[in-house]
Amino acid sequence: MALGIYIQIPFCQTKCTYCNFHTGVVSAEKYAPYASAVQSEIANRRSLYAWAGVPASEIETSIVDTVYFGGGTPSLIDPGHLESILAAIRGSFTSDWKEVTLEADPETVTREKAVAWAAAGINRVSFGVQSFNDLELKSSGRMHRREDVYRAAPILRAVGIQNLSFDLIIGLPHQTQDSCRKSLEELIELKPEHVSIYMLEVDEGSRLGRELISLGTKYSAAAVPTDDQMADSYNLARQLLSSAGYEHYEISNWAKPGFASRHNLKYWRREPYLGFGAGAHSFNGTTRWANAHDSAQYVGAIRAGKLPVEQLEAVTVDQAREEEMFLGLRQLAGINLDQFEPCYAAALREKLPPLESVGLIERRGNLIRLAPEKLSISNEVFVELLG
Ligand code: SF4
Repeated sequence: MALGIYIQIPFCQTKCTYCNFHTGVVSAEKYAPYASAVQSEIANRRSLYAWAGVPASEIETSIVDTVYFGGGTPSLIDPGHLESILAAIRGSFTSDWKEVTLEADPETVTREKAVAWAAAGINRVSFGVQSFNDLELKSSGRMHRREDVYRAAPILRAVGIQNLSFDLIIGLPHQTQDSCRKSLEELIELKPEHVSIYMLEVDEGSRLGRELISLGTKYSAAAVPTDDQMADSYNLARQLLSSAGYEHYEISNWAKPGFASRHNLKYWRREPYLGFGAGAHSFNGTTRWANAHDSAQYVGAIRAGKLPVEQLEAVTVDQAREEEMFLGLRQLAGINLDQFEPCYAAALREKLPPLESVGLIERRGNLIRLAPEKLSISNEVFVELLG
């Protein structure tokens, strides 16, 4: 069985206004102890399985084929730390790495780092581009500017990292449909193998989200596009990326043929993965567990010889059904009714006609999926089908 490993590096240079992740700005001297703690957690993983009642045999006989450094800003830390963590994985698991991804912010990329990343086995870089418009970047608190993307991408190509993914965000302050089109056109010109496009999330977890909820104007909240404008920009992205030869395979993800993210597909297909580091989640097919979010607490627990786990839950059949529905519909491949219905004793077919009649769901034989042009309003469908 194939296994994915996720490593969380929860450090950033500053906090972007829209960010709702558990990441922190800490002094660089905290990076080395954190990387050591991650290596210890990997080496001592069997004590967790024993404590949690997770059968270790299946995990231990799996082959790790994907590794993903996410954050935070993993490209911020010394590449030697990343290399040591990869060595710990190699020393603890049977490895046949097909895809080793590093999330990177464009301004952190140097030739020296890129050479070290490639030598350590990193073969894919996921760039937090977010926009090619400097006003949008600046008003969101991003550290990089448009020209950093143009500087960084060729550095990676030159050292042999030929699988690049670019993230864009729809809904940044000051974004218009014209500026969004310009960002998409520039992105397409740079020919990344993979593209992720996220809609701005408005919730209590970010400074901008709180400002929008309270109808304030700080953090350029008044310049955030409306929901309708965002939906139009999303549909524009679909058209431009499709014309440029990208396959839309998940609600937020497009890839050139053969470049869909092998690691992220594991999450969407509910396949097993292990996460190490502060706040990292793991799933073995039946049980989920998650580490403490606070990096100091995480390092403290590892140093004290304790498990850093904060949550552990056995996934119920109802949860599995909901997850499979939610994740399946987010993928353009859709859900196979002949497999889903008997597996979960669910009568989905009878809920479909009203959704089909208003064009929210497409059905071909035993396959259903969200209508591609309605993906930006997918929540309505989830509510109907899960109800
Ligand atoms: S770089 Fe990414 S993780 Fe860090 S604060 Fe910005 S959005 Fe959040």
